Amino acid sequence: MSTPRRLLARLRDLMARRDPAGGDATLPQLVRMVAAELVSEVCSLYVLRPGGILELTATEGLHPDAVGRTRLRVGEGIVGLAAATHTALNLADAQNHPAFAYRPETGEEPYASMLAVPLRRAGRTLGVLSVQNRTPRRYDADEVEVMETVAMLVAELLAASGAADTAEEGLLSTVPRRFTGSPLVPGLAIGPVVVHGTAHAPRRLLADDPAAEQARLAEAVKQMQRGIDQLIAASLPQAGPANSPEAAASRDILDAYRLVAADGGWLKRVADAIRGGLSAEAAVHRVAGDLRDRMRRVVDPYLRERLADLEDLIGRLLAALDGGGSPAPVAPGAILLARRLGPAELLDWHARGIAGVVAEEGTAGGHAAILARALGIPSLAGARGIIDAAEPGDDMVLDADEGYAILRPEQDVIQAYQRALEVRSARQAGWAALRDQPTRTRDGVPVSLMLNVGLTLELAQLELTGAAGIGLFRTEIAMLARGAIVDVPEQAAVYARVLDAAGSRPVNFRTLDLGGDKLLPGSAPPEEENPAMGWRSLRIGLDRPALLRRQLRALLLAAGGRALSVMFPMVATVAEFRAARALLLAEAARVRPAPSALRIGTMLEVPALMWQLPALLRETDFISVGTNDLLQFLFAADRGTPALAGRYDLLSPPVIELLSELVAQCDAAGVELSVCGEHASRPLEAMALVGLGITTLSMPAAGLLPVKAMLAELDLGVLRRVLAAIRRTAAGAASVREPIASWAREQGLPV
Ligand code: PEP
Ligand code: MG
Repeated sequence: MSTPRRLLARLRDLMARRDPAGGDATLPQLVRMVAAELVSEVCSLYVLRPGGILELTATEGLHPDAVGRTRLRVGEGIVGLAAATHTALNLADAQNHPAFAYRPETGEEPYASMLAVPLRRAGRTLGVLSVQNRTPRRYDADEVEVMETVAMLVAELLAASGAADTAEEGLLSTVPRRFTGSPLVPGLAIGPVVVHGTAHAPRRLLADDPAAEQARLAEAVKQMQRGIDQLIAASLPQAGPANSPEAAASRDILDAYRLVAADGGWLKRVADAIRGGLSAEAAVHRVAGDLRDRMRRVVDPYLRERLADLEDLIGRLLAALDGGGSPAPVAPGAILLARRLGPAELLDWHARGIAGVVAEEGTAGGHAAILARALGIPSLAGARGIIDAAEPGDDMVLDADEGYAILRPEQDVIQAYQRALEVRSARQAGWAALRDQPTRTRDGVPVSLMLNVGLTLELAQLELTGAAGIGLFRTEIAMLARGAIVDVPEQAAVYARVLDAAGSRPVNFRTLDLGGDKLLPGSAPPEEENPAMGWRSLRIGLDRPALLRRQLRALLLAAGGRALSVMFPMVATVAEFRAARALLLAEAARVRPAPSALRIGTMLEVPALMWQLPALLRETDFISVGTNDLLQFLFAADRGTPALAGRYDLLSPPVIELLSELVAQCDAAGVELSVCGEHASRPLEAMALVGLGITTLSMPAAGLLPVKAMLAELDLGVLRRVLAAIRRTAAGAASVREPIASWAREQGLPV
């Protein structure tokens, strides 16, 4: 490994000698030096120019006349491909690669093998460095490593000299751009962009004294680990005392993260890079760059989550090397852009005061999304390309209600959103005053508003909203956060914590609803064409009864003689409900003390249940309508497909007819009916549901007080007559949202 150190030392001299006014003058020396050290016949540097053109700027070995003439678009040729994919290409026979673009002026016919490495800095591509040899061969791992290190240095050189088009998209970097994504947590934010993971480039790249750098690294690692412990202790006080079961679920989220922190594999790679002649921060930077590139290629969702955690650690380590200390608060309203976020990073940024998150990747079931929801940070995922397009400090409007972010919006757009935010906060102040009022309509009909909860972290919302109870406790969320199905005592501790927090308020525990988009990390996704309609939820529970029984036992143990209410998800036939109920009753016969009352209910999410109501209503204690899945199955429209979002409406004749039939049959049978699912949290939808006769609604916490405010103004008797009239004239309409909404507006209802 002497070559890289010697090469790095020579590069350092070159960088120190360079003329700051004319960065390009050093480039011919640079390519000559790299070619000599790597024993390559050719070394060429392509620099990104405005318009996405890679221009041959310096070469050793290709025809000198080609400099300034040979130009490739990003994506064109091997060089363009390396730039477009952000990946090093290592080819034994480059000329027969399908992407090869022949440029006669270069005289490159004799050279078979080629290694092309993108020059990346702060998430942007500034050019490509390549070497070529006559002999067909693949470059070995050490050579690739050296080239990548050199590429990092050259990227710094280019950035410092202003030689490359750092805006990458030229003019585009000043115009507004809109990015769509999937809303993870609804809400609005307006503020300057902060970019996660593109920590400023290290001030010092090379170091003479590897032992001193190793010592700095060791100290920074210690500091990072202390920081993580403090973060875990300090970020979750609302979850309860450190050793109490109530803190367990939140800490569970961080468990996998701790494991990664203790894994020395990546630290070893950093130490190797220091031995090669880099400063500690440059070495961390190098490993981070590699990880980001590898992360993009990993398909397995579990591994991707782990790599995100690792990137999080690297960010912390860079901060520690940079002098440590607590990170500065962000500007008010700042919106965080990230490729992916680990859970601890999100807590960190939350502590610094971010008002919103936009991620290029990530799913609603991801760890960070679960925490974002619990912390109430408006968040959007799937906004691809946003990091490359944004500069830190750019203005941004995040509308996570509608699922988009506007980068560099026009002033009048910012002002319109500012007005919307002001109206919201004024409204919020009014809503808070409603917390302790009874929930009823203006004409005195009581309504029960309950919470949908998935983490013990969210239990504080019971007090904050004054909810009547927990209408839906999604038991799988804590498991997804934890990354495994935990044993009976641990499950029981979580459920007991939920019952303790609810006190005399009712709680409906839903049994595990895994499968579809909710995959346990590590479990290989089953090969299914339509996972949402596949082996999921209660189907898994009935096929793996031991799993379901363990959960039921944990629930009974948690109740410890208190009342217990359990419901089953995705029931498609009465026979399935019976089988599940039989498992619960069998466990209940064994567990002592027995619950003081045991309510067994079903979710109605599969339309087929509508034609089994007479039998079902004889056997179930209650029905809770899961509108998220019901709409998906009723309209055959995947709830996770962004292109279908909003295409089919809850406020449409088929859904309204279905629900009113359900209300009529439940009333006649004396069976309690409620609606859970996101729709119930929107005042207009909630109004229509109450108008149809469903007076128990369960929803995410953010919707509860706005719905309560709407109800306080609602004359239910009048609404019923209006709805009846709308239904009489609605046959064939795709939606009846507009007539319902215009009536609500006429009444001055806050919908
Ligand atoms: C639903 O489908 O409406 C529901 C509440 O369950 P989940 O969203 O957890 O599938
Ligand atoms: Mg569901």
